[in-house]
Amino acid sequence: MAEKFQARMADKQVRKDTRTLGDFVGIYCKGNHSDRVRTPLVSDAAVLGVYDSGTPVLCDECAEHLRYAEKRRAFCPKDPKPFCAHCDTHCYKSDERAWQQQMMRFSGPRSALHGYAIEGIKHALEARKYRKQAGTSGARKES
Ligand code: SF4
Ligand SMILES: [Zn+2]
Repeated sequence: MAEKFQARMADKQVRKDTRTLGDFVGIYCKGNHSDRVRTPLVSDAAVLGVYDSGTPVLCDECAEHLRYAEKRRAFCPKDPKPFCAHCDTHCYKSDERAWQQQMMRFSGPRSALHGYAIEGIKHALEARKYRKQAGTSGARKES
């Protein structure tokens, strides 16, 4: 594992964001892929203990997406970091970005049931601010 990734994952906020992301992907996978074989995530962040005892249980496809997202979060140049959906940098590859958006559309509204009410409110407020700045009425779906 790259030392730089390990160093970034030592940051409290990076760990927290990565755990949140893992939980959201877990909600998505459980809700959409319950017919698949799902196993505890094996990844660089998981090896570092980032997920503590809450390692997401995922199918292979979701695990691959989360491994990609772990790296994006670790090396995110934004500080403070916005929600990725509202970022003007968009460091994700286009297909990964599209996957994350549809994952968030599913998991976002359900996240309050999993202890993420505050994150959901923050996301909604930031989405409103983003739409205002972009001069849109909210017709675009956010994630
Ligand atoms: S999309 Fe933006 S906020 Fe998200 S990880 Fe990339 S640079 Fe950071
Ligand atoms: Zn899945």
